[in-house]
Amino acid sequence: MSSKAEAWEQGGGSDPYLSCVTPVGEVLKATNGEKMSGNEQGLSHGRSHACGPLDGMLPAGNKIMAHPPKVRMAPRLVDTTLRDGEQAPGVAFSREEKLRLVQALIAAGVPEIEAGIPVMGKTERQTLRAMAATADPCCRLISWGRMHPADLAAIQALPIRFANLSVPVSDLQIEKKLQRSRGWVLETVRRFVREAIDLGLEVAVGGEDSSRADLDFVLRVAETAQAAGASRYRFADTLGILDPFSTFRSIRKLRRAVDLDLEIHAHDDLGMATANSLAAYRAGATHISVTVNGLGERAGNAPLEEVVAALRYGSQIDCGVPSASLPPLSALVAQISGRPIPQAKSIVGSTVFTHESGIHVDGLLKDPRNYQAFDPKELGRSHELVLGKHSGPRAIQWGYQRLGIDLSLSEAEALRQPIADFVTEWKRSPQRSELLQLLSAATTRTACTPSVGEGPREMQARRPSGPRPASCPASIEPVQAGAPAGSCAAPLARGAFSHRSPN
Ligand SMILES: [Zn+2]
Repeated sequence: MSSKAEAWEQGGGSDPYLSCVTPVGEVLKATNGEKMSGNEQGLSHGRSHACGPLDGMLPAGNKIMAHPPKVRMAPRLVDTTLRDGEQAPGVAFSREEKLRLVQALIAAGVPEIEAGIPVMGKTERQTLRAMAATADPCCRLISWGRMHPADLAAIQALPIRFANLSVPVSDLQIEKKLQRSRGWVLETVRRFVREAIDLGLEVAVGGEDSSRADLDFVLRVAETAQAAGASRYRFADTLGILDPFSTFRSIRKLRRAVDLDLEIHAHDDLGMATANSLAAYRAGATHISVTVNGLGERAGNAPLEEVVAALRYGSQIDCGVPSASLPPLSALVAQISGRPIPQAKSIVGSTVFTHESGIHVDGLLKDPRNYQAFDPKELGRSHELVLGKHSGPRAIQWGYQRLGIDLSLSEAEALRQPIADFVTEWKRSPQRSELLQLLSAATTRTACTPSVGEGPREMQARRPSGPRPASCPASIEPVQAGAPAGSCAAPLARGAFSHRSPN
């Protein structure tokens, strides 16, 4: 068994359900009171890095632990938005956009960035040089290339000293794409790893299509890479066909066979890239490939924001990227990729902390923890409550109270159907001015024509037309009683519509 595998087993690595990782914020100390290095804890992540997420997990000033618990290193994230992300159809970043993104990733604490493909041309190489000139010592830049002389020549000419050299390892791609043999692949790995090391590079071997390859052959490729001096093997689920169980089995077998760092590179074709990344980590992977917003080929890659949040909130593992940095990173990539964030996108979507259902709103108002997986404040966000088809009378009461109007339960009940009709018609929650209109219509009906309801179609002539104004929140949450006139609608005077005003 490899030494890393032994360390992994000692840390509970053979049990996918054993939680033996360092909890977020927990501090480990050697008996002399010094911080334990990664190697002292049994695993290393790369050879030349002093800065890593584990360092961020070990603040000074904590008590000495005589018998440190078994510990598993947090995984190191390898962001490949600039390489695999840019391979998404229709996506191309300018030099300035790439430099902005690199700085944003560095500021967010991402420890490794796969920055580009030098062989693509002079412009790409100039951009990579500019990135290297501004790089931070705590963030490692990586060049990507094939095991091809031209790629290696382009890589070695740059001041980026870590290279991911990729080669297909599935029989299908070896035979149908390259018209080569397994023996050729092994010899190519041996030759290019040695050549790259002779050029002063550190090398990760990228096993393209590893998930469709014969696993025994993948082991042979990884062993060959290790013998030639590579420091890492990237297990690429190139077509995104894995599930967490098969991922765990494959990575565990690799973990037990080689001492290399292992990187999972998961694609999301079956919607399991994040789950597969976590399974690989549980099985012994030391690195996880991610892209911001999951940007990448076809269905994309494992999204950075999902992996960071899943590790933090699901497994209490801090991989060094603060939650608060995720929304701005996501917004930046949405902007420069021209791909808006779907509103229900986990972690960063605009409505993932918005609640309408009566049961949920009631629970949230009593205690946010009733319907809160994690505190949105950590992302710089907050719960938003909106009224809609599923709002109960208490939620409607609360919503109108935010507008400065105190409704009785029966009055709130009378508004349920008009609000439901509005959302059915307009496919969105009513905004402030529209809630006031619904109330006005209901009041008029009650006073004058109780048997004739005014639905949204009838209201259309009186409601504001066109898209929602940017300054006008769709939710009722940000709206305060007595809001300034002109922001969305005139403020509601207290006592208007004969309803009670809040105290
Ligand atoms: Zn990929």
